[in-house]
Amino acid sequence: MKISCNVIKDLLPLYHDDICSEDSRLLVDEHLKHCEVCKQELKQYDTDFNGGLQMNTTANIDEARPLLALSKAWKRDRKSAFLKGVSLISILGSTLCIIAYNASGVYVAPDGTLVEAFGFIPLAFLFAFIFMISVSSLGVLGLIRKFK
Ligand SMILES: [Zn+2]
Repeated sequence: MKISCNVIKDLLPLYHDDICSEDSRLLVDEHLKHCEVCKQELKQYDTDFNGGLQMNTTANIDEARPLLALSKAWKRDRKSAFLKGVSLISILGSTLCIIAYNASGVYVAPDGTLVEAFGFIPLAFLFAFIFMISVSSLGVLGLIRKFK
């Protein structure tokens, strides 16, 4: 059975991508043995496909470069934004604890101990401590960025 080059040309993309049936593969193989035109066509697929792919990869890397820089900056900003948030919340918590301490009924027992219902003072100190840590981390982060 003689198969025309047009039929083979229809099958070549499938043959090239190795997704045609075994029968089609045999047909194309048989045709390629004695048809230089179709052989050239298949070669063209190889160079087009591989060359195109490589070009795409380098183009993609070039396109991704600004995005990478952006994502790096974003990650850095996220760190400092997190520290800013923590320091804001902790200073707010500390202030609220001091206000609550003053508002709630606190008294000194006859034996000299401070009687406090909710432990606002230690909480206020804890928040203040967290605040100092986060603010100094922010400062260190800023210094690191300055000298980078
Ligand atoms: Zn042919």
